[in-house]
Amino acid sequence: MLFGDATLEQTKVEIAVNGEFFKASGSIIAEPGWMVVGDASKTEILPDLKVGDELSGDYKLCDKMSEPPKRYTDKTILAAMLSAGKDLDDAELKKLMSDPKTGGIGTEATRAAIIQTLIDREYIVREKKILRATQKGIDLIEKLPLDQLKSAELTAVWERRLGDIARGTENADLFKRDFENALREWVKIINARVARTNQSYANMLEGVRCPLCKSTVHSTDDGFVCAKHKDGCKFAISTICGKKISEQQIRKLLTEGSTALIKGFKKKDGTKFNAKLKIENGKMAFEYE
Ligand SMILES: [Zn+2]
Repeated sequence: MLFGDATLEQTKVEIAVNGEFFKASGSIIAEPGWMVVGDASKTEILPDLKVGDELSGDYKLCDKMSEPPKRYTDKTILAAMLSAGKDLDDAELKKLMSDPKTGGIGTEATRAAIIQTLIDREYIVREKKILRATQKGIDLIEKLPLDQLKSAELTAVWERRLGDIARGTENADLFKRDFENALREWVKIINARVARTNQSYANMLEGVRCPLCKSTVHSTDDGFVCAKHKDGCKFAISTICGKKISEQQIRKLLTEGSTALIKGFKKKDGTKFNAKLKIENGKMAFEYE
């Protein structure tokens, strides 16, 4: 109180050691002020440096591996549930989710039960102190086509409307109707996804693998395509030189590496030729008679 302000200069330096660059940041005390008598130990103090200064130091090489994020324990997952939604874009929802009364996922009374439900339904398992997602849990998050249902925003919107009902500014029947409509819409989206997945399995070529990525191969209206085609795999076969390839031929090609002789390919100038198809370095090629 009796001393003046301390003035610090924020400094970032780049230090070259044998051609490798290292960074350090800290402060230089320009005007110590109260720091003469106060605790300045929380400040990383750098010496006064000028560009081109030569420094000496002790260096040692360490072998280190990057580490995956730490798994949740009961304690850290409760904290994560409490702070869920604090990074929402909508300012009003963000405020609502940051409120200790309404914020986060669940309430103080229900959070432990939510975790137990996830365990009971085998979405997560408890291993000693650690909670780990099961393959079923990972699949659910990956495959559920409803991003809304996976976002903390939804619980924030509902919390707000429930709060409004409690304050008498929202109609409970209206909320119920909106909820039912949303539910119907979600079930429709999920059913459509399930139908698409079943369709795709029905068209799968049993025992045949993509030569590029080893995923399953599926027949479509115009040919054959790798299951990971939408994710970037380039393997797809439709008509080759005017000739439609049959399922039997594609099966032989992908399981044995080449087809039997196929007659009647057509060049651009119209002349016909016969050839076998083969897979060479993951690509299709002709093997001429
Ligand atoms: Zn593929």
